Amino acid sequence: MDTPHFDLDFEPAYGEAVKVAEGVWRITCNNPSPFTFAGTNSYLIGRGRDVALIDPGPENEAHFEALMRALKGRRLTHILVSHTHRDHSPLAARIKAETGAITVAEGPHRAARPLHAGEVNPFAESSDTAFIPDLALADGAVVEGDGFTLSAIHTPGHTANHTGFALEDSGILFSADHVMAFATTVVAPPDGSMGDFMASLEMLLGRQDRIFFPGHGGPVADPPAFLRGLRTHRRMRERAILERVKAGDTAIADMVATIYASTDVRLHGAAALSVLAHLEDLVARGQVICEGPPGLSSRYRPG
Ligand SMILES: [Zn+2]
Repeated sequence: MDTPHFDLDFEPAYGEAVKVAEGVWRITCNNPSPFTFAGTNSYLIGRGRDVALIDPGPENEAHFEALMRALKGRRLTHILVSHTHRDHSPLAARIKAETGAITVAEGPHRAARPLHAGEVNPFAESSDTAFIPDLALADGAVVEGDGFTLSAIHTPGHTANHTGFALEDSGILFSADHVMAFATTVVAPPDGSMGDFMASLEMLLGRQDRIFFPGHGGPVADPPAFLRGLRTHRRMRERAILERVKAGDTAIADMVATIYASTDVRLHGAAALSVLAHLEDLVARGQVICEGPPGLSSRYRPG
């Protein structure tokens, strides 16, 4: 069975514009964490007079200055945002004010489902609800400038408004946080949806991309093999959860303690949300039963 081969080999070169392909430069923000890996990757794209910027990044003075340095002498026409998490979109406002470029995204931030009664959104702090794109791009819609053509490839799952961008005639897909080489992505309700995430994986498997440039870490060099590995990994995790439910675990905390026994306990809160994402999907498919809407403190039994 092919599980993904994660690649942690990455040299961020903070503050520098690193050329990663013809007409594509990566500038990594110095905001490392367990969730952002070495930091957020911003990309500048353009072979001609104009350039587009994908994911300006968080409010970070050094990163702002690095981006402005890299833009010197070029005309920024579009600021594209893959999704509205605070490590990706907030700097858009300042760069727009400085350059006059228009902001582009699938849409403003929204959760994948409404909050249940009494449920607290654990992502309230990490979401950038202030970002409203000038231009909302439908799936497959195109933005172009002199020297680039990028199309929106909607990939909901990590967030409801998550979108990748494909660079025409290059085989390059900017996969943002949907597919990253260094680790699996966080898929956690209510912002994320496992059903959507798996459907987005299947959609990408049907494409012919040559390479992915993600929002964190280095490139995915063999997208089809990596996508199949991710799918297998999620199915194995789903099977492990189903086995715990069948073994008599009714609470998510008990499932996490067993399934994530070898994981850093600082990540167990995120793990619980990931298990909830799978349980939502399993309940929707009738394989697990939950009285009321599935939540972190709900009780689960086999369907
Ligand atoms: Zn994110």
